[in-house]
This record gives sequence, structure tokens and C-alpha cells, in this order.
Amino acid sequence: MPVRRFADGEVVMGRWPGSVLYYEVQVASYNDLTHLYTVKYKDGTELELKESDLRSVSSFKHRKSNSSSSSPSRRSGSRSRSRSPGRSAKGKRRSSSQSRESKEEKKKTVRETNLTFLKLSENNTSRYNGEPDSTERNDTSYKPLQVVEGLPLLNGRRLKYRINGFYAFVLTVAAVGTSLYFEIELHYLYDHFLQFAVSAATFSVLLSIYLYARSLKAPKEELSPGGNSGNFVYDFFIGRELNPRIGNFDLKYFCELRPGLIGWVIINLAMLLAEMKVQDRNMPSLSMILVNSFQLLYVVDALWNEDAILTTMDITHDGFGFMLAFGDLVWVPFIYSLQAFYLVSHPSEISWPTASAIIILNIFGYYIFRGANSQKNAFRRNPKDPKLAHLKCIPTAAGKSLLITGWWGLVRHPNYLGDLIMALAWSLPCGFNHILPYFYVLYFTCLLIHRENRDGHQCKKKYGLAWERYCQRVPYRIFPYIY
Ligand code: NDP
Repeated sequence: MPVRRFADGEVVMGRWPGSVLYYEVQVASYNDLTHLYTVKYKDGTELELKESDLRSVSSFKHRKSNSSSSSPSRRSGSRSRSRSPGRSAKGKRRSSSQSRESKEEKKKTVRETNLTFLKLSENNTSRYNGEPDSTERNDTSYKPLQVVEGLPLLNGRRLKYRINGFYAFVLTVAAVGTSLYFEIELHYLYDHFLQFAVSAATFSVLLSIYLYARSLKAPKEELSPGGNSGNFVYDFFIGRELNPRIGNFDLKYFCELRPGLIGWVIINLAMLLAEMKVQDRNMPSLSMILVNSFQLLYVVDALWNEDAILTTMDITHDGFGFMLAFGDLVWVPFIYSLQAFYLVSHPSEISWPTASAIIILNIFGYYIFRGANSQKNAFRRNPKDPKLAHLKCIPTAAGKSLLITGWWGLVRHPNYLGDLIMALAWSLPCGFNHILPYFYVLYFTCLLIHRENRDGHQCKKKYGLAWERYCQRVPYRIFPYIY
């Protein structure tokens, strides 16, 4: 029989349902049958919470704020057994014009909350940002080779992730450099491209079978929201378990960046060497140098900003199944390197002015891509980051806010826009004689349009009215004034 952790009358921190915010609550009672605690918030709100939503007060950092009152129920809009008494009394004492005025004010506050204002208006007595002491120190200035915590899972737990992808890359470069020094022929990869791709595909199928089998034993709260329809084919494809781990080794997180991205760079390098050999050149072509450099920048950027992946859909929402296993281990290294592969047997000479225009296009795309991703990542990690104080956001009932200015006020997925501009810049050096180098940009446009739709549905479910307001405020999805 499970033993209860908190006694009646004890003051603890209770998570507000659907959010990451914790408030001081008093345990009123415990139900032995449902294993739920009835807790009372300071404003009188009573709720039933699971033990995993309760924490001891000592594990939180206490911050004082001298701003005006706001109860959790008011902020979240959730239903509770009793309403805040202070709220109704206030309403009765006001005249109708005063209350109209205050309604208008409230609407304004809800619609557009400047970040600095948000900081002041959180709570009358004390405000906790939902994280235990140790994670409060999280900021956006991570250095590689760190352990950071991911976003809270449904049960409130946060997994730890080792940030060392960039060092894995440096180590791989050293190993490849050494093998080149000993004259190991890397263009072997070009000669046996298909065999390598088929081997990787076979491995990804085996890995997916293993992932599916182990997910059958996984506890319910560790399953992904999307991959548990009961339809074997669909669940096998989407992935059932959200964060499959062997000990501390996170299989999805590892596959997301390391083998696929680093493999892609190595294949590109092999193509560059193969081009020199096949075309009997002393130097790689300018087109090949551009393709290699652009894609190298993309990979190094992803590895350098490795922690940013922890707030992406792949990590927070999608399970680990065939879709990600095949995507990470086969699709990324073998399809994304098609431009370099093409150039080996299809020489494409471009002039310096053309090359310069393509470089500017790539830098432009990268600027949008990195700016948007970093802004959202910094905001999700610490909405009160002083560097973001100039941005506006709208609060949502789920506790998180949505940025409505800055990159995320331009279109709903500015990061996709930047990514697509770069994708075009990677294809252009190959000229216009063949569709193959443009496969990536065409496929990627379809993928991101579909992904944007999928994300939009999820956000609508998560944020309801606030999401609709965001969509009204930011009508274009990816391409300003077009789509
Ligand atoms: P995003 O990083 O775009 O994350 C979407 C999430 O951001 C939403 O679910 C929501 O999550 C949050 N969000 C949405 N709007 C706002 C807002 N206004 N303010 C604050 N938060 C908001 O998702 P992806 O994982 O799809 O993309 C990450 C990057 O990876 C992109 O740059 C993309 O181009 C790239 N990518 C590259 C691929 C490739 O093959 N090369 C494949 C797929 C993606 P919540 O509110 O829960 O935090």
C-alpha cells in the first residue's frame, strides 16, 4: 500500500494544473482510494492534486514581489471548486463605469503583456517560477559540456541531458583528419553510397522494433501524447515512448544530433574528395566548397546550440519510433548530402558574383533562423530574461506565454522561414540543369508546411483562445504576406 508523503495541515508547493507554476498550498485531506490530495490555495481555491504535483517548500527559491493581487485561478482561467473570495467582493464594490474601465484594463493586460510588466503582476505575496532551486540558475548562456534539464514532463519531472555534441564533433573531425593523414580513402563512401544507405536503413528498422518492444513495458506517463493510438502501424511509425533511455543514455536525444548531423558532414567531405578524384581536380569546385561550407555551418550551429533542441517538438512531443529513427540515421545524412553527391558527377561552375549573392542569401536565412530559434529558446527557458524585456507576449491559460513581437511577431514560424531560405541557398550552387539538387528544398517546404500545421493544432489544443488571439495578431504562418 503506498505511503502518503504529506500530512494534513502541512504547507507545501502545489503545481497549478496544466502549468509549470507552483503555489503555496495547505494539505486539507488525502483520499486513500484515488491517492489524491485535496489542497487549499491562499485565496481559498481548493483542488485535488496528485502527489507528483506537490513538492516541499524547502525545495523552492522564494522571491518577493510587491505587485497587486492575482490568484492562480484568475491567471489560468481553470475551473475550481471555490472561487477567489477577494475577486467577487471587489467586483461588488465598484460602480458600473469603474468596472467597465477595469474590464478594459484587464483585457489589455491579458492581450498584450510586456515582459517587464508580467514580472510585476505575477502574485501578491510570492511568486515561484515553478522550478526547484537548482534549476532556477538555468540561463541561456550554456557552454558545451554541461548537464542541463529539459522542459518539465507531464509528471513534473525534468530529465537531465549532457551537452557535449560539439565535442563529439571535434573528436570526429580529429579522427577523420587522422585517417586522411594515413591516406585512408574517404571517397570509398561515394563509391558505396547506396550500400551505406541501405545498412543505415536496416539499422533504423531494427532500432524501431526495439523501441516499440520496450515501449510496451514503459509506464503510461512516459508515453508520447501522439504515438499511442492503438493502431500498431501508426504507433510504430510515430513512436510510443517519449524519452527512451538506457540508464542515463537518452536514445532519441543522441540520435537527433550526433550520428545524423555529424555523418552528413563526413559524407559531404567524402563527396568533396570524390569530386577532386572523379573530375581530376587539384581543388574542389567553388560550388562544392559553398555546399560543404553552408551545411557545415548548419551542423556546427546545431551542435553549438545543442540545448535549443530540448524545446523543439521532436523532444517535447514526438515519441521515438521509426519516423525519427529513420529520419535521424538515414534521411538526414544520405538525403541532405544529395547536393554534394550530385556535384561529383555533374560539374557546376559558378562565377564569384553569383557565389557572393548565394552567400548573402545563406547568411540572411541563417540570421532569421538563429535569431528566431534563440529568441524562443531563451524565452521558454526564462521568460523574465532581461535581454527579452523589450518583447511583448500574451499569457495563456496553460501558464506559458506566447511572444507576439520580435521574430515570433513576424510570422508564426520564423525559424522555418530562415531554414527554407538556407535550403534554397544550398541548392543554387548546383545550377539549374537537374531537379535532384532541388529535391531537398522542395521536400523541406512540404515537410515544414505540414509540421507547421501539426504544431498549430497542438498549440490550439494547448492554448485555446490565447492561440486564436496569437493567430489573429500574427496572421501569416511561414512566409510574410504569402502564407
Ligand atoms: P519550433 O522550435 O518551431 O517549436 C514550436 C513550438 O514553439 C510550439 O509548439 C510552441 O511550443 C512554441 N511556440 C510557438 N509559437 C510561440 C510563440 N509565439 N512564442 C513562444 N513560443 C512559441 O519547432 P520545431 O521543432 O518544428 O523546429 C525547430 C527548428 O528545427 C526549426 O528551426 C526548424 O526549421 C528546424 N527543423 C529542421 C529540420 C530539418 O530536417 N532540417 C526538421 C524539423 C525542424 P510551447 O509553447 O509548448 O513551448
